[in-house]
Amino acid sequence: MTEELREHIAKAQMVLVGIGKEMEESFLGLSNDPFYQRLMCQAEKAAQNEKERLALQQYIKLHYLRHHADRNRLDAYKSLAELLKGKNYFVVSLCTDDLIFSSGLDESKIVAPCGGYRALQCMETDQQSQPLCRTDQESLVVQEEVWKQVMDDLDCCDGELDRVDFPVCAECSHILAFNQIETPGYREEGYLSQWAKYKQWLQGTLNRKLCVLELGVGMEYPMVIRFPVEKIVFFNQNAFLFRVHSRLYQMAEELKGRGASIKSDPVRFLV
Ligand SMILES: [Zn+2]
Repeated sequence: MTEELREHIAKAQMVLVGIGKEMEESFLGLSNDPFYQRLMCQAEKAAQNEKERLALQQYIKLHYLRHHADRNRLDAYKSLAELLKGKNYFVVSLCTDDLIFSSGLDESKIVAPCGGYRALQCMETDQQSQPLCRTDQESLVVQEEVWKQVMDDLDCCDGELDRVDFPVCAECSHILAFNQIETPGYREEGYLSQWAKYKQWLQGTLNRKLCVLELGVGMEYPMVIRFPVEKIVFFNQNAFLFRVHSRLYQMAEELKGRGASIKSDPVRFLV
């Protein structure tokens, strides 16, 4: 991490952090692990259709994350939490691996618009892609016990996926998937209340000394972090942007002198 960044953060009144896909778990180890390979093959065979296959893979990936999460990434989040200690910050993350939630960062100051593993949903939708099923008026299942039971089953399944009970929708009896952007019929209500908080926080950055730190944000969903951040820094004369990315670290011409490009993998940069 550069001394320049530490100085900017120390002086800033507010800090906005954007986290992109370069920070996300790659699951490289999963494809080299015989236990998970076996489960993935069985998921392929057991699934009745594409949706079900995706859901089964999500449960297997979550199990992997809970047991084999990349140490370096976890350390990177810890140093980010350390860096932001005592600051007025907000974090927007495009990652769906939920590693950020074990970092010590304040959950009430994080928004993850691509979802993650903290809620389940039914994948059935009508022709307008609107959710079909709602249980007790709720479209998300947020009780941890529901997916934790699957994790326990996977722990003792001996590599046999048919020994695992997967939760199903109370309305249509189809398997529940995780509330993530890649899930068909993604239910955005999972993050919208945090998004509203973030928008409100952003309004408060006007004319404040703002430090923006972009970590591994490439061109995936550029309307969520990359483009808005450039606009914020352009219009706020007291803002400064640090853009850390291994390839897409370039700064727009209009922001010359208002930001620093750092060519680095964000995980390596932080630890
Ligand atoms: Zn359903």
